[in-house]
This record gives sequence, structure tokens and C-alpha cells, in this order.
Amino acid sequence: MKRFKNRGPNKLWHRSCMCDKENHHNHSTGKCEVEFETSYAPDRPEIVYCEKCYQQEVY
Ligand SMILES: [Zn+2]
Repeated sequence: MKRFKNRGPNKLWHRSCMCDKENHHNHSTGKCEVEFETSYAPDRPEIVYCEKCYQQEVY
């Protein structure tokens, strides 16, 4: 890790994907367990998805 941390208000949070739908990329059943960095804080109401689940939601 040689990169500088993000500066400014956009703090990144380490969170896990909240997708629990079936037949997604890496979880045919149950919950996706992909972890990633997001600027959505854990106390925000938005549901956060990993990149792949998000793409499956959108398309
Ligand atoms: Zn996911």
C-alpha cells in the first residue's frame, strides 16, 4: 500500500456487499460476501452492493 489515503470528506469505509439475492455472480443462494471500499458510511440508509452485484442490479 503505497497510495495515499483519500483526502477530503470522502472517507472510505470497508463494508461488505449487502446483496442477498439468488443467482448472482458469486452466490447462487444466500448472501454475497464480497468486501470493498465505499464512500457510503455504515449508518447511511443506502444499500451498498459490490461492483458485480451492482452491475447485475443495473442491467
Ligand atoms: Zn456482491
